Amino acid sequence: ADDGPGGNAVAPDRLLSPHLEDSNPAACLSRHEASRRWKPAAFPVPPYLVERLRRYEANHRRCGPRTALYREAVSRLRSAARNADHAAAGDRHHTCKYVVWIPTEGLGNRMLSLVSTFLYALLTDRVLLVHEPPEMEGLFCEPFPGTTWLLPPADFPHKLDAAAFSSRSKESYVNMLHNNIIRYGYGAQVLPAYVYLHLETVFLLTESVKLRLQNHTFCQEDHRLLNKFDWMVVKSDNYFAVALFMMPMYRRELERMFPAKGAVFHHLGRYLLRPGNRVWGMVDRFFEGYLAGADERLGMHVRNKQIFPVPPEIMFKQILRCAREHHLLPQVLATSEPPTAEVKKKKAVAVLMLSLKPEYHDKLHAMYYTNATVAGDVVVSVHQPSHDGEQQSDARAHNERALAEIYLLSFCDRMVTTGWSTFGYVAQALAGIRPWMLLPVNRSKMRADVACVRPPSVEPCMHPQPSLLTCQQGPRHLDDPVKRVPFLRHCEDVPLGLKLL
Ligand code: GDP
Repeated sequence: ADDGPGGNAVAPDRLLSPHLEDSNPAACLSRHEASRRWKPAAFPVPPYLVERLRRYEANHRRCGPRTALYREAVSRLRSAARNADHAAAGDRHHTCKYVVWIPTEGLGNRMLSLVSTFLYALLTDRVLLVHEPPEMEGLFCEPFPGTTWLLPPADFPHKLDAAAFSSRSKESYVNMLHNNIIRYGYGAQVLPAYVYLHLETVFLLTESVKLRLQNHTFCQEDHRLLNKFDWMVVKSDNYFAVALFMMPMYRRELERMFPAKGAVFHHLGRYLLRPGNRVWGMVDRFFEGYLAGADERLGMHVRNKQIFPVPPEIMFKQILRCAREHHLLPQVLATSEPPTAEVKKKKAVAVLMLSLKPEYHDKLHAMYYTNATVAGDVVVSVHQPSHDGEQQSDARAHNERALAEIYLLSFCDRMVTTGWSTFGYVAQALAGIRPWMLLPVNRSKMRADVACVRPPSVEPCMHPQPSLLTCQQGPRHLDDPVKRVPFLRHCEDVPLGLKLL
């Protein structure tokens, strides 16, 4: 145990394997240090989840790269096809199954889809292997002890970057189904060496914004067929973990792993996604330099997406209105009058302002620099670690700053985020803190009736509407799943989206 920032003793993080600490603690400083910085979690760690993680780790060590079983699996993958019946009848527990994750889109999207893919691996006894393009090199620590989660690219018979796989790929599950390369049922069939599961959100801009996943991706009969493949490739920009909770075949395990459904990303994200040492250095320097000394830390992430920009003045007004209505920041005197009375002890509030643009920081900074606060007993400082201007998800240094800032945001006491942004979702879920969310409407203007809303859970929102999914028996769930599943809600920011509660 160690002393946290508030002097609280911090229990060792039971989610993390004890073997990781034994091996080389310096290899991943954030493993211990991040747990110390987060405020004590409101969500107890479920014992069965811990058991499942230790079991997963043992299987990863058995089947991971550099093992004999892995070499065997790679040679099967390279010999073009294999017989499904043979796999079903053979020694199932001696073979290893894999799911290969391919990153796409911004870092927030990547973290949501990586955690979802790991949950899928837990549920289907697959080993999670990660394709690490140069822009992600060393971004995250190795999460599993005594092995690696990195897929040596030369081992895979197909190019492994995001552009190499799409809904049109001939290896795509849905295409193989449509082209009768594979079929439902138990009869003998020869399976291709691997299957690609395309879980990217289809973005349609018609009368209104509609988001949906492909058909045949979250149906029981499809998952039974998918399970027959030893190798699977997944590319997704979404928090599809939510869709797994809607499938009866996974429900029992999920109930046991997550008695509280509102903490799925909270636990799995903290387990899987610890920043590597380069990023941790940035987090640590900024936190110690600008935030640690404050009595209170308020984090804000202002995301103004380029496709539907909200004018910055309107966004800034909304930030101030949200802060005022919810007492997040002290009010300032209208004029730059000198303070009337001397106050000895002042409370220091540090605002961590995150955005690609400098203007929100500059405006808020100027406001508290120029004007005294009404009560005079609070000083507000405003800090922004970086402002890269534009998103550059294929640049490593840019992604390192983004990850450092997601972590810094997760160490704040309270946070304001922007709806539709997966960057904010990740920070709120890691922290276990419900944010105040600014709401762009159709991402072109702000909602006028409320300044910001407070979601009832810290879980990220899954953006598509699964009620549109088609299964073998025709369209499924034309009713609203929120009516059937007690722990599901629509999202405050994305009305068609779904989140766990
Ligand atoms: P989303 O697009 O808002 O859902 O979030 P993503 O994280 O998927 O993509 C946005 C990307 O833009 C981030 O990953 C960063 O690369 C960049 N970005 C957006 N806001 C910030 C910010 O406040 N700080 C930094 N450093 N990068 C940001």
